[in-house]
Amino acid sequence: MANPFIQRATIEDEVRAALAATLRLDAEGIDLDSSIVTDLGATSIDFLDINFRLESTFGIRLATQLLLDHVEEELGEGTAIDKDDKITAAAASLMKRYLGERPGLEAGIFAEEIPAFVTPRVLVKSVEGITDELPEKCTHCGEAAWKSDDGKKVACGACSKPAEYPDGDELTKRWIQAFEQEHHLFGGG
Ligand SMILES: [Zn+2]
Repeated sequence: MANPFIQRATIEDEVRAALAATLRLDAEGIDLDSSIVTDLGATSIDFLDINFRLESTFGIRLATQLLLDHVEEELGEGTAIDKDDKITAAAASLMKRYLGERPGLEAGIFAEEIPAFVTPRVLVKSVEGITDELPEKCTHCGEAAWKSDDGKKVACGACSKPAEYPDGDELTKRWIQAFEQEHHLFGGG
């Protein structure tokens, strides 16, 4: 279910703002389809900072574990990354679904090349994937009385507690299982 309080445009603005603040860039100039690593110059430490800003803004928890590590955990060791640290054909298909078709995103690239394919749009999708999981009712008091003052954080109108969303790692696991059930590429499911 889409979150009725949080517009995609708001998430896009906040992703630009988080990138701009961390990387000292002009928010207006950030292309949502640029590579956060190659084009915007982010390091892995920067990603932690960017994620933290988005988590604080929306009251969510983004995935902390790499997608391919989740795949290996869910579907078996060696299914996503081979012994030479290259991604398998199944993993490449899954990454394309997750990151979008990008030149060079193919089976056989090194797993460590994957972060270069992450775009601001992927971050928008990650945030939205979580905020879209707003439960029907407050998990604290059971009332269905959500409200939002700023279009970013959602709170209960009855007990005032912030909305509790599933965390990013949990949603990533569900997404991987659903992908495998649909495509049967990893030999599991
Ligand atoms: Zn409540």
